[in-house]
Amino acid sequence: MFPRKEFEKLLIKTSSCWFIRVRDTDRIRKSSRPQLNYESERDKAAHWAWRIYKGEILGGKNICHSCDDSRCVNPDHLFLGTQSDNIKDAVAKGRWTHVRRPRPSMQGKNHWNYKHGNRVGVFEK
Ligand SMILES: [Zn+2]
Repeated sequence: MFPRKEFEKLLIKTSSCWFIRVRDTDRIRKSSRPQLNYESERDKAAHWAWRIYKGEILGGKNICHSCDDSRCVNPDHLFLGTQSDNIKDAVAKGRWTHVRRPRPSMQGKNHWNYKHGNRVGVFEK
């Protein structure tokens, strides 16, 4: 288990979010989900934060961020959710763009291929 004191040495706290610093500097680690090793254990920084401040992560839950910054490890910004909660949350906040409905111009009679025939690869002047 990561000792709280050691963990807190790594933090850069802003007025809201907490970030993990680049070793021995005042720069914030840029990776979107920074990982930390302690002894032989490796886990995401946000998971360590949860375990240090809140307790165990129960059965297969994901750590979600209410602040939408996945680098953040402020326990007040973390909540437990399932993968599908996480996706629903992402959709609700517009972070998940893959489930966007196709635009009307891409469907049925509005589809480019319907109006123009399928001319992929044919270029006219
Ligand atoms: Zn945050």
